[in-house]
Amino acid sequence: MSDNIRIYSELKEIYKEVQLLNSINYTLEWDERTHLPENASVYRAEQLAYLSGLAHKKQTDPKIGDILSELEAAGYGEDNLDPMDVNIRQWRRDYNLKTKLPILFVEEHTRVTILAQSYWKNAREQSDFELFKPWLEKIIGLKKQEADYYGYQGEPYDALLDQYEPGAKTDQIAEILTGLKETLIPLLEAVKNSSNQPDSSILTNDFPPVKQEKFAVEVAAKIGFDFANGRLDETIHPFCTTLGPKDVRITTRYMPNFLNSALFGVIHEAGHGIYEQNVRKNHWGTPMGEVDSLGLHESQSRLWENLVGRNKSFWEYWYSIAQTHFDALKDVSRDDFYFAINEVKPSFIRVEADEMTYNLHILLRFELEREIMNDNLRADDVPDAWNAKFNDFFGVRPPDDVQGCLQDIHWSAGLIGYFPTYSLGNIISAQLFAQANRVLGDLNEMFENGNYQSLREWLAANVHSHGRRYTSGELVEKVTGEPLTSEFLTSYLKQKFGELYQLSL
Ligand code: ZN
Repeated sequence: MSDNIRIYSELKEIYKEVQLLNSINYTLEWDERTHLPENASVYRAEQLAYLSGLAHKKQTDPKIGDILSELEAAGYGEDNLDPMDVNIRQWRRDYNLKTKLPILFVEEHTRVTILAQSYWKNAREQSDFELFKPWLEKIIGLKKQEADYYGYQGEPYDALLDQYEPGAKTDQIAEILTGLKETLIPLLEAVKNSSNQPDSSILTNDFPPVKQEKFAVEVAAKIGFDFANGRLDETIHPFCTTLGPKDVRITTRYMPNFLNSALFGVIHEAGHGIYEQNVRKNHWGTPMGEVDSLGLHESQSRLWENLVGRNKSFWEYWYSIAQTHFDALKDVSRDDFYFAINEVKPSFIRVEADEMTYNLHILLRFELEREIMNDNLRADDVPDAWNAKFNDFFGVRPPDDVQGCLQDIHWSAGLIGYFPTYSLGNIISAQLFAQANRVLGDLNEMFENGNYQSLREWLAANVHSHGRRYTSGELVEKVTGEPLTSEFLTSYLKQKFGELYQLSL
C-alpha cells in the first residue's frame, strides 16, 4: 500500500467515528422531536451537547489538517471523477469551516442564539418587535464577524450563503431571483383578478388523521420512499433525518380538518428521503455519500411535492383512491379538487404560502438580509422595510409584526443566508423536471398510470449518485446542458396557473 493510500484510510477511519457520533446525535434528536416526554428535555440537551462536543473535537483534530495537506501536496483533491479526490476536497472544506472560527466566537454565537430564540418567542407572543431588536442587533454583529472569519471575495453575504449553498455567489443568486420576481408579481396580480377561483373549502373538512396517515404512506411508498429502510412518524415541525445507511426517518403533522398539510408534507419529506436513501447507499461516512447543498436537497422534495404531487395527471391515478379513504371527497369532482390543491393567494405567512407566492416570501427575506449585511439596513428599520416590501410584492401590508418580520425562527437562530436555498430548490426542481421530460418521454402518461420508476431512476443516476461531487450550479449545468436559470420555473408556473385561472398571458 502506498503512503498516500495508507494515510487516506486513516482519514476515512477518523471520519467513520465522526459519522458514528453524529448519527447517534441525530437519533437522539429524532427521538426528542417525536417521542420525548415533556420533563426529559434538560437531560437530553446534556446528552446532545456532550456528543456534539466529542464530534467537534474529532473534526477539528489537527491531524486531519496534516493528512489533508500531505495528500494535497501529492496532487489529490482536484479530480472530479475519482471518489477519493472528491472526498479529500470536501473534507478540506469541512475542516476549514470547522476550524476557521475561534472557539470563543463559536461559544458566543451559541450563547446569543439560544437567548435570542427565547426573546424572539416572547416578542412574537407579545407582538412587540422592540423586545427582539437588541438581539437581532447582536446577531447581525456576529454574522458580520463570522463573514470576516470565513473570508469572501464579493460581499459579506457570500460567506454566509456559501455554508448552505456551496459555491453560490450573492450577485448571481440575486440575478436569478430578480428574474423570478419580474414574472411572479404580474402573474400574481392576474391570478388575483381572475373571475375563475377555486373552492378551497373542500379541503377543510373532516379528514380523520388515521386515514390521512394510511393514504400518505400509500403515496410515499408508491413514489419510491423505501419503508424497509425508513419510517414515518408524527411531530410538530416536520423534517427528514438520516440515522444510518439504511435508516431514513420522515415526519409529519396531521390536521384533522385540513388535508393538504400532511399529504403534501409527506410527499415533500419523502422527496428528501428518497434522495437520502439513494445517496447514502454507498460511500456511507464520506462526502461522496452526503449532500451539502440545501438547494439541491430542496429541489428533490419540491419536485415530488409540486411538479409530481400537484400535477393533474398524478391525480388521475390517485383521486379515486383518495375518495375511498375520505368520505369528505365523495361528492367533490377531480377537477375541483385539483384546482383547490393549487390555489394561489397572497398570505402573510411564508409556511402557509402556495407554490407560486412562496418564492416572493423568500425574495423579500433575501433582499433584506443582503441589505443588512451590506450595512444598508439597521435592525431598527427592519419592520418598516419588511412591510414596505411586502406591499410592493403582494399589494397588502401585514397588520402586525407577528405576521411580518417576527414570523420566522431563522434570524434568531443565527440563520442568515439560508432562505435563498428554498427558492433555489424550486428553480432547480423545474429545470431538472423539464430535462427529465425531454429525456424520458411523456412523464404525464407515466403518472396517469401511477408509474414513477423512470423518473426516480433518472434522478438517482443523474443527481443522487454524485453525493458532493458537484456544486448545485455545476450539477444542473451538467444534467440539463444549461446554467441555472429561473426560466423553467417561470414558464412552468405561467403555464400551469394560466390554465387553471384562465389567464390570457
Ligand atoms: Zn424541505
